[in-house]
Amino acid sequence: MALELRPNCEYCDKDLPADATDARICSYECTFCAACVDAVLSNVCPNCGGGFEPRPIRPARAWRPGLSLAERPPSTKRVSLSYPPEEIAAFIRELAAIQPDHR
Ligand SMILES: [Zn+2]
Ligand SMILES: [Zn+2]
Repeated sequence: MALELRPNCEYCDKDLPADATDARICSYECTFCAACVDAVLSNVCPNCGGGFEPRPIRPARAWRPGLSLAERPPSTKRVSLSYPPEEIAAFIRELAAIQPDHR
């Protein structure tokens, strides 16, 4: 099992290609752009309540056999949030003041 490299920000739909340095993920691989994580989500994943970390960049070439972007390609399935904006805002207000390691 490899990390699922999702193609877009679930909040603003910005493209986040596999080499994007501004992709952020939660422990469930929910994927957002850094701008949304900082300015809108306050480091609260709207799906699970967890915090975010930078998404690692998968090497483009196979430095080890079978392990490269070509052989383990990113997902092409775009993902979008299933919660309404007001509900997300309330969820974030509830959790933002609690550090991720205490949620
Ligand atoms: Zn975004
Ligand atoms: Zn999440």
